[in-house]
Amino acid sequence: GGDGVPGRVRVAVRLRPRNAEELIADADFADCVELQSELKRLKLRKNNWDSETYEFDEVLTEFASQKRVYEVVAKPVVESVLDGYNGTVMAYGQTGTGKTFTLGRLGEEDTSARGIMVRSMEEILVNVSPETDSVSVSYLQLYMETIQDLLDPTNDNISIVEDPKTGDVSLPGASHVEIRDEQSFLELLKLGEAHRIAANTKLNTESSRSHAILMVHVKRSVLGAEDAIPSETDKSSHFVKPPKTLVRKSKLVLVDLAGSERVHKSGSEGHMLEEAKSINLSLSALGKCINALAENSAHVPVRDSKLTRLLRDSFGGTARTSLIVTIGPSPRHRGETASTILFGQRAM
Ligand code: ADP
Ligand code: MG
Repeated sequence: GGDGVPGRVRVAVRLRPRNAEELIADADFADCVELQSELKRLKLRKNNWDSETYEFDEVLTEFASQKRVYEVVAKPVVESVLDGYNGTVMAYGQTGTGKTFTLGRLGEEDTSARGIMVRSMEEILVNVSPETDSVSVSYLQLYMETIQDLLDPTNDNISIVEDPKTGDVSLPGASHVEIRDEQSFLELLKLGEAHRIAANTKLNTESSRSHAILMVHVKRSVLGAEDAIPSETDKSSHFVKPPKTLVRKSKLVLVDLAGSERVHKSGSEGHMLEEAKSINLSLSALGKCINALAENSAHVPVRDSKLTRLLRDSFGGTARTSLIVTIGPSPRHRGETASTILFGQRAM
């Protein structure tokens, strides 16, 4: 899937290294996956002698640097946003597999650790012109079908407005903060994260149970091509019209999805069960939309959840979408790893 073709979804898989606990407790057991990054293949172990092989657009091992991950997963999307198209990068996977590591790391002490959010903003800022262009950011949390503004905690029920003609999505109540330099963006991400922790404490939930959505709005002034060169047959004009400037708007949406692990319904009840149902609803609605894109279907069922309604103008058409599925190596989580791999496969 993908290959840089707009409208299709590019899918990468990223394996995180074993953590200290897994190194000790699972020392006698092999990883549940084996990666062949050159061949863009991943083998999921079924048992000691048998495995299933899957192909992806990119296969990123535990040795892949943050820079490389940015370059293969996000950079083509950011470049197309700079050219005026909408773009989305989403991270999908079980809690603890590296979604936030991949997207959200700030890397303040060690810039090589920076994740996709900071690297994307850097790339945008070096390419826009501060005199004529503008870059602004909204940062949201989507929890139990409610959208909260992470830049303004008093704003905890934002509605989605869709333009019936263009299909463009907007969030009229959400804060837009103008970004001029990298430092102010880092401060804004920290503020958003602090508000997210506070909101989730109040709601008595974990941040892994909600989707975090960063929207970068890019407005660029471009010269209207037809007006720039006056027509030779246009004898009526005695003077050369000044070229008309057009404002070209596009947005980059970066989504750190809620953990994809299935919550055991038998064990949970009340609020926990409602929360689990809500996550299942939005992730399965997302899966259906990206399957529809992969199959080139004319009907993308965006209406089934707030998540997909929010991403509506980032699906199909000229928009470019990248999905990174994150997995862990532990043989104990083989089942969850298998279902994450299948989600990624169906998107291709
Ligand atoms: P998630 O957001 O999917 O729940 P995190 O990004 O919080 O997962 O990662 C869980 C833990 O694993 C963190 O301590 C993180 O630093 C570590 N980790 C994740 N991915 C990597 C990686 N590629 N290399 C090193 N450590 C990683
Ligand atoms: Mg996380």
